[in-house]
Amino acid sequence: MTEATTHDAQAALLRRAVPCLWLNPGRKAQPPEGLAVAGRQIGAGDIQAAAARMARFAPLLARLFPELHEAGGVIESPLLPAPTLAPALGLGLVAEQGRLWIKADHLLPVAGSVKARGGIHEVLEHAEALALGHGLLTPASGPEDYQALAGPAARALFARHTVAVGSTGNLGLSIGVAASALGFRAVVHMSLEAKEWKKQRLRQRGVQVVEHAGDYEAAVAAGRTQAGADPYSHFVDDERSLSLLLGYSAAAPHLKRQLHAAGIAVDAAHPLFVYLPCGVGGAPAGITFGLRQVLGPHVHCFFAEPVQSPCFMLQMLAGQGAHPSVYDWGLTNQTEADGLAVPRASQPAAELMAPLLSGCLTVPDDELFRHLVRVLDATGERIEPSAAAGFAGPAMLLGTDAGRAWLAAQGLAAQLPQATHLVWTTGGLFVPDEEYQRFVQRGRALKEHS
Ligand SMILES: *Cc1c(COP(=O)(O)O)cnc(C)c1O
Repeated sequence: MTEATTHDAQAALLRRAVPCLWLNPGRKAQPPEGLAVAGRQIGAGDIQAAAARMARFAPLLARLFPELHEAGGVIESPLLPAPTLAPALGLGLVAEQGRLWIKADHLLPVAGSVKARGGIHEVLEHAEALALGHGLLTPASGPEDYQALAGPAARALFARHTVAVGSTGNLGLSIGVAASALGFRAVVHMSLEAKEWKKQRLRQRGVQVVEHAGDYEAAVAAGRTQAGADPYSHFVDDERSLSLLLGYSAAAPHLKRQLHAAGIAVDAAHPLFVYLPCGVGGAPAGITFGLRQVLGPHVHCFFAEPVQSPCFMLQMLAGQGAHPSVYDWGLTNQTEADGLAVPRASQPAAELMAPLLSGCLTVPDDELFRHLVRVLDATGERIEPSAAAGFAGPAMLLGTDAGRAWLAAQGLAAQLPQATHLVWTTGGLFVPDEEYQRFVQRGRALKEHS
């Protein structure tokens, strides 16, 4: 096929909401050291800086959040082997197609989702800047000094400031909980998808929840406008923020240590395939940026999106300069994966991914519920529908003509027996039991009819 006909075939599948795989022709094995994003150059030093900031705040976080006490204030998730799940994902011949692991961000404390990484990092960066500006910290302050930020002077300072955000639910949870724990006024603009329990959880913590009848984009725009008029308000901009993105990237050095501890090599003979659920793109792009910096050319990252909300795939197809919406493509943005219900991608995230990302794939909602049940039955882990998207990845890569042709062209086919497939589960810890049981029922009903 010529490039034009491949593009047309892809477009036809996308319009018809048929699951499909897009492979990035612009991926570079050796990308430049500094990468341009939103007019700035970022590199390995920025990832280290974000990780160092989280470490400086760890003693304070352990004090503010009892659930972090044991971990010494470190917000991290386990790396779990999932061999019994592999056959259900189409990795039938495990030994010949690689081993399956889960990066369990559905267990991340404080926020219960991947948003704990980026969201809390941005709130901490803002608090740190305010404290430095008011002499409550100095550039020489160490982690123990940061505990002063739980004291009366810092709390009085933060109480005069607002942290605001627009969200489909999980980012609001992360920002709201972190900001209110530090003593900020917190305002969360929720889009129509946001689940009632997420709003209640925030209100119980004194966070102001503003409900919007519109989608994610509308909630972000409303929050941005309101915060822009108030000099004491900091708006966490999910569509543009570099601090969020770098917070997510700090997952990479920690994962590198976990892979090493688990005896998992990542090199030319041992490729690593990572499958990440994608909404606006900030979380998976931050993580991918980190992984490509820390692990090099033999890590291949794929973003998974609902068939009705494939905003990132559309953005990668359109290229920079364009900013397509899923509605322009006749799609509805209707999905039970509330964390992924985003009509238009983050442009900085897409710009950053141009040389780094291996591909994007789409998943029907029914498939999310089937995977949610498979994960429960094989591992006992409880994930939310958004967090199930990545499980569609291995079959897309290994079981489709497009995937197999790409693996062969990249010289990866022969390496598959020694490969690792890592599915990133992005949320679920705080889903109320009643709601989770409904997800399971829906998944089981589907399974019986397939
Ligand atoms: C937000 C979210 C994602 C994706 O993050 P983006 O930055 O929006 O791409 C994935 N899974 C869950 C559960 C989320 O809440």
